[in-house]
Amino acid sequence: MAANNLEKCRKIVGAGVNYWNFVQQTGGKAPVQPVIFLKPTSSLVTATNDLAKDVVLIPKIFQNINFEAELGIVIGKSGKNIPKEKAFDHISGYCLSLDMTGMEFITKARENCLPWALGKAFDTATPVSAVLPKDAFNPNDVKVWSKINGVTKQEESTKGMIFSIPELVEFISSYMSLEENDLILTGTPAGAGKVEENDVIECGLGDVVSMKFVVKREN
Ligand code: MG
Repeated sequence: MAANNLEKCRKIVGAGVNYWNFVQQTGGKAPVQPVIFLKPTSSLVTATNDLAKDVVLIPKIFQNINFEAELGIVIGKSGKNIPKEKAFDHISGYCLSLDMTGMEFITKARENCLPWALGKAFDTATPVSAVLPKDAFNPNDVKVWSKINGVTKQEESTKGMIFSIPELVEFISSYMSLEENDLILTGTPAGAGKVEENDVIECGLGDVVSMKFVVKREN
């Protein structure tokens, strides 16, 4: 397993609404181009396989938060305007990630056409696994799954993405440089939802990697 190099991550780029089954579930329209947002690196928390330490904190400002299990892409070679044919040359590995979301904020932001940032930015809003080398599994067809308190909530292949990994890299890098150690979150499949204090979130990428986080409330 490659060393976890996300401590050197300088930005996290998220893709929203990027699974066909998510669009079907929510009854919304499929986006015509990727829906992109940024998260601060202060939201990162790396899984240690110790539930006493692997904690997601609901910030005081939110009543509850949503979990979203996702495939994360780690950039290995910086680039701008990367064509999709070259995208995999710029990727060094993948991780499992949770894109924790203050849904009450995002729902209001959507209604008022305001940015999502404050709903995606809180401390511990981006739990991640160790980074896996890019040849560890096929990222184009790996099952993204999650369970809450042992009950399966999400289970869908990355084949179900609306915009593929190369398409996301091409699109994002047409707006900003993607730099070494940047993390791209590729969106979550259907089944994402609310968690409350003391819930245990377990998620994985097939049988390649998994992690567990317990939900606590900020004091
Ligand atoms: Mg997400």
